[in-house]
Amino acid sequence: MSGARDGAPDCDVLIAGAGLVGLALAPALAELGLTVALADRAPVAAPPDPDGDADWDSRVYAIGPGSATFLRAVGAWQLLPPERIAAVERMRVAGDDGATLEFSAYDVGERALAWIVEERALRAALVPRVHAAGVAILAPRSFATLAWTPQAGTLHFDDGTAVTARLVVAADGLHSWVRSAAGMVATVRPYGQTAVVANFACEHAHHGRARQWFRGDGGILAWLPLPGRRISIVWSAPEALAGELRQLDPAALAARVADAGGHALGALQCITPAAAFPLAFMRLPSTIAHRLALAGDAAHGVHPLAGQGVNLGFGDAEALAAVLRERGPVADAGSASLLERYARRRVEPVRAMQAVTDGLWRLFGAAAPWARTARNLGMAAVDRLPLAKRLLAHSALR
Ligand SMILES: Cc1cc2nc3c(=O)[nH]c(=O)nc-3n(C[C@H](O)[C@H](O)[C@H](O)COP(=O)(O)OP(=O)(O)OC[C@H]3O[C@@H](n4cnc5c(N)ncnc54)[C@H](O)[C@@H]3O)c2cc1C
Repeated sequence: MSGARDGAPDCDVLIAGAGLVGLALAPALAELGLTVALADRAPVAAPPDPDGDADWDSRVYAIGPGSATFLRAVGAWQLLPPERIAAVERMRVAGDDGATLEFSAYDVGERALAWIVEERALRAALVPRVHAAGVAILAPRSFATLAWTPQAGTLHFDDGTAVTARLVVAADGLHSWVRSAAGMVATVRPYGQTAVVANFACEHAHHGRARQWFRGDGGILAWLPLPGRRISIVWSAPEALAGELRQLDPAALAARVADAGGHALGALQCITPAAAFPLAFMRLPSTIAHRLALAGDAAHGVHPLAGQGVNLGFGDAEALAAVLRERGPVADAGSASLLERYARRRVEPVRAMQAVTDGLWRLFGAAAPWARTARNLGMAAVDRLPLAKRLLAHSALR
C-alpha cells in the first residue's frame, strides 16, 4: 500500500488495531464491498489449538446473545468449538450484607444469559474470516505518525511504509495511540482496582450458574462457568489485595477464592496462572473526528463487573457496518454525515452501560453503613419484582 505518496486512498477503511473488535469489524466491512486494511503491531494470526482438555485460556469473555448474533453474521460464531463454550443459564448476585438477586435465561426467553468463550477461541474463529474476506493485513507494524487531508487519513508505520484510507477506525484499545495522535482527549479515571483472573477446576458441578459477590471492601468477585467442572474468575480487587492475591501460590489462591465464594462449588484447584489487569473508566466527548471513528475500548472504558466491554465494542462494529451498509448514494465511507450517524447510534447504549457499571461500582464502594443497608435492601426488593429484574437482565443481554 503506497497511495500515501500521491495522497490517493489505498482503501476505503483502515482499521488500526486487530484486537477482537478490529478483527470482527474487518470482515463485516469487507463483506459490504469496501476495501479494508487491518494494521497492528502484533501479527494477525490464529492462535494454536489448545493442547488438550486440560489447556484453558485465562482470558475469557461473557458474550451476550446480541454479540453472538453479530459474530454469527460475520461467520465466526459457527467456527467456535461447542465443547469449549459454556452457557450461563442462571446468575446469582450477592450483596455484602446477604441480599441476593437471581437472574435466569428462562425468565427472559433466551437460551443463555451469556456464553463464556476463551479469547483464543474467538481469535481462532475471527482470523480466518478476516483472511477469507480479502482484508489487507498490515502486521506486525508499529504506528509512527498520522496525517490528514480533506479526502483521507494516512497512517505511517515506523518501517517507512504507509497506508491511506477514506476512513480510519481506531480500534487500538483503551490507551489508543490513534486517538491521541488525532488530538482527542479522554477522561480516564482509574478505579483503584486490579482485576485478577484465573481458571479453576471445582469439586461440584456449577450447572451453568454464574456467581458474583459485591464485597464489603468494595471489590467484586465473579465466578463464570466453563465447560465441565471448571470456572473462570474475575476478582476486581482493591490494589493492595490484588497485589497480595498475585503473590499467592496456586494452592493458596484456590483456597482464598473458594473461601471468598463461601465454598459454593466445594474445593477449587487452580488450572491456569493468575493474570492481572488494572481497571479504568474512560469517556470521550465524541467518538468521531475528521475521517476518524473510534470503536471498542478506544471509544469507551467500562468496569468489567457486568462483562460488557467487548460486547459494547462488538456493538460499535455492528453499528458502523450498518451505517456503511445503508449509506446509499454516499460512496465515501469517511464522509462526515455517515460518521455522525454512527456516533448518534452508539452514544445512548454506551452511556447507559457506563452509567450502570459505574453506578454499581460507586454504590458498592461506599463504606457508610446507610449505603450498605440501602444497596442490600434495593437488591432484595428488585429480586421480588419480576418486571424490574427482566428489565435489568435485558439491558445486559447485548
Ligand atoms: C479482567 C477483564 C475481564 C473482562 N471480561 C469481559 C467480559 O466478560 N465480557 C466483555 O464483553 N468484556 C470484558 N472485558 C473487556 C474486554 O477485555 C475489552 O473490552 C476488549 O478486550 C477490548 O477489545 P478491543 O479490540 O477494543 O481492544 P484491545 O483488545 O485492547 O486490542 C487493541 C489492539 O490494538 C493493538 N495496538 C494497540 N496500540 C497499538 C499501537 N500503538 N500500534 C499498533 N497496534 C496497537 C494491540 O496490539 C491490540 O491488538 C474484560 C476486561 C477485563 C480487564
